[in-house]
Amino acid sequence: MSIPSGPSAQTPTVRAYLSLGSNLGDRWSHLRTAVDRLRAGGPAAVTAVSQVYETDPVGGPEDQGAFLNLVVELAVPVGLDPYSLLEQCHRLEAGAGRVRTVHWGPRTLDADIIWIDGLSLNDPDLTVPHPRWRERRFVLAPLAELAPDLADPALVAAAGGEVRIVGRV
Ligand code: ATP
Ligand code: CA
Ligand code: CA
Repeated sequence: MSIPSGPSAQTPTVRAYLSLGSNLGDRWSHLRTAVDRLRAGGPAAVTAVSQVYETDPVGGPEDQGAFLNLVVELAVPVGLDPYSLLEQCHRLEAGAGRVRTVHWGPRTLDADIIWIDGLSLNDPDLTVPHPRWRERRFVLAPLAELAPDLADPALVAAAGGEVRIVGRV
């Protein structure tokens, strides 16, 4: 399995979008550290980072705190194994000391692959596009800043959950 090439055969990379979220501990620090680590290395280069959105939790326990969310755009080399991106997401989560307890419960860092240009994958371990991205305003609103072709205003408006811009990492 490898990521297919973009529209031009000469294109060496395709776009990928990660959603990062935190609602436990120092949320700003978890997001900043994750973006710094993505910038510092790994299989793909960071090409853009959205603003930070504060969002009320969707699903999971009722008493958990608000999330900070952002979306990162990556330039992924054509032919890269998408599972190496998933591993990088898991490394970022582990680096933030994430402990898996309640499903959709509070977490120091959640890193999801939302979209990879030209890739459709239906493995429970890695489903791309992310199965719930079109329902979530906390994904769509920051994504719309970076990729309006994927998240147009009507889609953002139709999605669930309130979001507010609170700054940048
Ligand atoms: P949701 O998927 O609804 O956003 P979640 O992020 O809380 O829920 P996790 O417990 O973080 O779910 O992830 C469970 C598993 O989902 C991961 O171990 C991973 O293998 C798998 N997974 C499937 N598709 C993806 C994807 N596109 N990005 C990240 N993880 C994925
Ligand atoms: Ca998630
Ligand atoms: Ca996740």
